[in-house]
Amino acid sequence: MIQQYLKVESCESSSHSMDEVSLSAFGEWTEIPGAHHIIPSGFMRVVELLAEGIPAHVIQLGKPVRCVHWDQASGRPRGPEIEPRGRGDHNHNAGEGGQGGGEPLGDGRDEDEQWPVLVECEDCEVIPADHVIVTVSLGVLKKQHASFFRPGLPAEKVAAIHRLGIGTTDKIFLEFEEPFWGPECNSLQFVWEDEAESRPLTYPPELWYRKICGFDVLYPPERYGHVLSGWICGEEALVMEKCDDEAVAEICTEMLRQFTGNPNIPKPRRILRSAWGSNPYFRGSYSYTQVGSSGADVEKLAKPLPYTESSKTASCLSHQEELLEKNTKPHLLARNTAQQSKHTTTYRSFPWPPMSKAGLLICSFPIYST
Ligand SMILES: Cc1cc2nc3c(=O)[nH]c(=O)nc-3n(C[C@H](O)[C@H](O)[C@H](O)COP(=O)(O)OP(=O)(O)OC[C@H]3O[C@@H](n4cnc5c(N)ncnc54)[C@H](O)[C@@H]3O)c2cc1C
Repeated sequence: MIQQYLKVESCESSSHSMDEVSLSAFGEWTEIPGAHHIIPSGFMRVVELLAEGIPAHVIQLGKPVRCVHWDQASGRPRGPEIEPRGRGDHNHNAGEGGQGGGEPLGDGRDEDEQWPVLVECEDCEVIPADHVIVTVSLGVLKKQHASFFRPGLPAEKVAAIHRLGIGTTDKIFLEFEEPFWGPECNSLQFVWEDEAESRPLTYPPELWYRKICGFDVLYPPERYGHVLSGWICGEEALVMEKCDDEAVAEICTEMLRQFTGNPNIPKPRRILRSAWGSNPYFRGSYSYTQVGSSGADVEKLAKPLPYTESSKTASCLSHQEELLEKNTKPHLLARNTAQQSKHTTTYRSFPWPPMSKAGLLICSFPIYST
């Protein structure tokens, strides 16, 4: 039973095992009071609502960023391919408006004045900016920070990226023609008798399915049909992501038969799975405070760049307050779910004005200031 609970907790933490989760920092996370809500039309509706007041042509979706060139003002050399465009034409294709490097910017700026930040996209478009808020996941930062920022991030931020943890928690949805479970059943949990003594819980790749802690029944059936939602985390989730749908459906059905003692359970008619670990834009599901890290790492990661003299020691919030007071504009603010110590991993850790610190900056310094 304890092994079963540890698997459930690992899924909750998105860690490979609970051995990796910091016990001392565990209490830093606080539950937000109030009810849980399901957004019937999905989270995209929230994004659509937020975007309603913003002209469509200033938002670009599906546009991967290759590198953020920050600290331009300090005279760092730019890559030869980096040529800033004139302000306002950043939504046109590279071929349309021409490169704006040598041309007047047409907004009262001095020709020699540099944009403090240039965002270089995968499609080679370069977007000049006064401020950039980076919200990629900790997984993406871990994998790509060295190539994603020019100049590279300060050593303390890199160390915080290494110390903080992110792992993979995946869901496996199985849809059945008919329920084989009773109306009172909320979930089916798998307890393996031969695991009572085994530690640590890492399985050989072919036994990845043993890490599935159980399947929850999705209610109400009028909305979802007859669907079970399974949870799996850690290295075994990454193995599951590499298997094909057929193999995963088969193995899950076999487990359900074995654990319910009902050999007649049919194969599901549909299977749907997440693959957060192998998705190059996520590289993990959510972050956690790894052994050796703390909320201080979260604060370090969230400090805006470039540092001012005092920000090297000040907390993130006090530094941002100081910037506000002096009307100094930070160029680069990293923001992701690993950067709010009390609410890491949750929707609450969005840069959500005016609740979050990033929101404070957005409100005070418009991204396209005039
Ligand atoms: C299985 C699961 C269950 C969860 N359950 C809950 C829950 O019950 N309650 C809760 O509050 N939270 C939950 N969460 C966490 C919640 O989903 C996340 O905290 C939230 O989605 C994070 O939002 P975000 O915008 O900060 O980061 P993300 O959603 O990770 O967004 C980062 C964005 O950056 C983009 N990106 C990455 N690389 C690049 C690049 N090079 N160029 C351009 N864009 C890039 C990605 O495409 C993505 O759109 C759950 C997460 C998972 C996986």
